Amino acid sequence: MSTSVYEVERAAPPASEQGTFLIGYDVESRNPAVTQAFLRRAVAIHEATDVPATFFLVGRTIDLSREALRPLASHPLFDFQQHTFNHVLLKSVCIEDPIDGVRFFRAGTLEQIREEVRRTSALLRDEFGVTCTGLTGPYAYYRGLVDRPDLLEILWDEGIRFTRTWGRDERDWQPVPLEVQPFWYRLQGFPELLEVPLHGWQDISLRKSVGWTNHDGFLAVEYPYMERAAAEGLTFSYCTHDHSSTRDDPEMAITESLLRRARALGLAPMTYATYYRRVVERTSVTAGVSA
Ligand SMILES: [Zn+2]
Repeated sequence: MSTSVYEVERAAPPASEQGTFLIGYDVESRNPAVTQAFLRRAVAIHEATDVPATFFLVGRTIDLSREALRPLASHPLFDFQQHTFNHVLLKSVCIEDPIDGVRFFRAGTLEQIREEVRRTSALLRDEFGVTCTGLTGPYAYYRGLVDRPDLLEILWDEGIRFTRTWGRDERDWQPVPLEVQPFWYRLQGFPELLEVPLHGWQDISLRKSVGWTNHDGFLAVEYPYMERAAAEGLTFSYCTHDHSSTRDDPEMAITESLLRRARALGLAPMTYATYYRRVVERTSVTAGVSA
């Protein structure tokens, strides 16, 4: 009998034959020059490879780059979701980081979190006509929100239907194994709220570990996750950022290599919003067949 929540509540993957590739950028820089240089290059590499992506936008970053973001709101390859307004943590993390030591970051209050999510969804709606249904949690957490039905209730009330919050291990460090596949928060009372973890390493942790200029060293660690996802029909969910994907790599060569590798492996690429929609469709089809 399985004793892992991600196995017991596992969501039916939309591309179980060939595996799925998800890439989500946390767009959160406080420097609009960084965000806008990133956006220009991201559009170029995603159009060149025809790989879709999700931008998880911090509200205050939207405020600084409204005009640069506007044309991308209706771009067929991109999807806008949120990352809170001020990058407020949903859960505290105590990171046992082998490079920078032990560090603690405190979560916001429940009232603050509700306001952060509501304000960002309102901004996305008023500015771009986007209905926000997805959120990635600042810093990401060990076991996502499986222990926090109070937070899930706030997110559900605010219209969030999928989260990317499982992104650390028991030391609040990384990597997150590929075994942690997307699952439903049914046990917590939210059977239609989907957790899509991030796998392996968020780029920042790994790039500082191998050295920011060591592109090949980074790819040598990331590729095996993608190869395994392709071989076993699993979902690989990758997290990077506006400021880190361009740091010591202004052309985003690392990210472009990942997109091309996903294509070469035959992984099905899609935005997180499309992924959620397809998982829901597959779930109702499966339920209909078994009924
Ligand atoms: Zn972030």
